[in-house]
Amino acid sequence: MNITYNALIEQVKSYHPGKYPITRNYTNGAVTNWSPYISRGLLSPVIVMEQLKTKFNKQEWMGFMQQMAWREYFQRVWQEKGNLILQDLKSTQSKVILESLPRPISEGNTGIQALDKAIHHLYAYGMMHNHVRMYISMLHSNIFKAAWLPGAKWMYANLLDHDPAANFLSWQWVAGSFSSKQYIANQDNINKYTNTKQRGTFLDREYEYLQTSIFDHLDTIQSNHSVNWPDPIDQKFEVDTMAIFKKIQQKNQSKILDINHVMPNKAFCIYNSFNLDPLWHADEELNRILLLEPNHFDQFPVTEKVLQFIIDLATTNIPGIQIFIGNFEELIKAIQTYPTSTKEETSQSENKKPVLYFKEHPTTQHYQGIQEARDWLFPEVTCYFPSFFGYWKKCERYLK
Ligand SMILES: Cc1cc2nc3c(=O)[nH]c(=O)nc-3n(C[C@H](O)[C@H](O)[C@H](O)COP(=O)(O)OP(=O)(O)OC[C@H]3O[C@@H](n4cnc5c(N)ncnc54)[C@H](O)[C@@H]3O)c2cc1C
Repeated sequence: MNITYNALIEQVKSYHPGKYPITRNYTNGAVTNWSPYISRGLLSPVIVMEQLKTKFNKQEWMGFMQQMAWREYFQRVWQEKGNLILQDLKSTQSKVILESLPRPISEGNTGIQALDKAIHHLYAYGMMHNHVRMYISMLHSNIFKAAWLPGAKWMYANLLDHDPAANFLSWQWVAGSFSSKQYIANQDNINKYTNTKQRGTFLDREYEYLQTSIFDHLDTIQSNHSVNWPDPIDQKFEVDTMAIFKKIQQKNQSKILDINHVMPNKAFCIYNSFNLDPLWHADEELNRILLLEPNHFDQFPVTEKVLQFIIDLATTNIPGIQIFIGNFEELIKAIQTYPTSTKEETSQSENKKPVLYFKEHPTTQHYQGIQEARDWLFPEVTCYFPSFFGYWKKCERYLK
């Protein structure tokens, strides 16, 4: 999934959004697969929409724009609510039986072919179609009746496009804690959108019986499942972030920040896993650092594959970028010791704090330096809306 920025822009230029609204729910629909680049901050949603608007009329790009606005909506909720997005936001998730991740889901062994295939695809490629994410999270939270957070963390860790706002808020939307009701789908619905023809599964039922298709009214697991599924049925999901960082450090040794390669008296651009913008201060001679903070990845763990994707995307597209594994304060300490050419400069640099640029984001609130804005499709619509539709109504006023 690594790509050069130029190749990505070519994809944007050749994309036709006309069929997007009517096909996007199908696994073979006209979706773009750009979310790993948009969420990593490599591809600006503003640039995408500018490109589409030069070639297509409003009717053709509108459906696509509305979906892009969902992403922006979630970002605004995150800005407003902060870490509360990790808890039930509007109402408590109803009827939780399992506190951890159901193993049939993490093992890709639910018996629903389209979903099992998608889970193995997620492990191999870090990608999953939006509608399948909804199916898996509804199966997890509303049929297995597992607390949504462990499932959300598991999916997040494996996604190249991992984004706390889009992820945790979508999981909450499906589980009914950030929406008015739980989302459920039966086998017919899954067959229709995933082009499968499976029958006779525990989801092959009328909607009214779906929510008791695994656990009966006494919260006992139905006997027909116990043959196929492990006991206990759920398992704690954990990622060993320390071990992953160790491996990543060894694998990428040549790209790790070498203080002797810092350009003296030049400012620093601080990138992170949400800002890999290759156009940011691109025509200036600056020090460029990809900051991978253990504190952040402890809170929002990702797999080694996903972390390596972030590094590959950064080093492919941002010339001269060096990696720093450590928290922001440690980076500051390290760069304050960067070498200068003369004695006089050394004493000057001791008194002078380096100039640092970074982009506004919920994960950069503890950075110090010069904060710059990120790109928004609707920079005017900043306030909190409890639902997407209120937000979108406001956005529509600014559509050109
Ligand atoms: C349970 C669940 C978890 C999710 N986790 C994430 C996540 O961690 N990171 C993430 O970026 N998206 C997440 N999404 C949203 C969505 O699934 C992905 O953005 C989408 O699959 C991206 O595929 P695409 O690039 O082909 O999108 P397209 O359909 O081509 O859409 C273009 C862009 O619009 C935005 N977009 C489209 N649909 C949505 C949506 N429903 N919500 C938010 N933005 C959207 C994305 O930036 C996407 O790249 C999640 C959705 C669900 C239901």
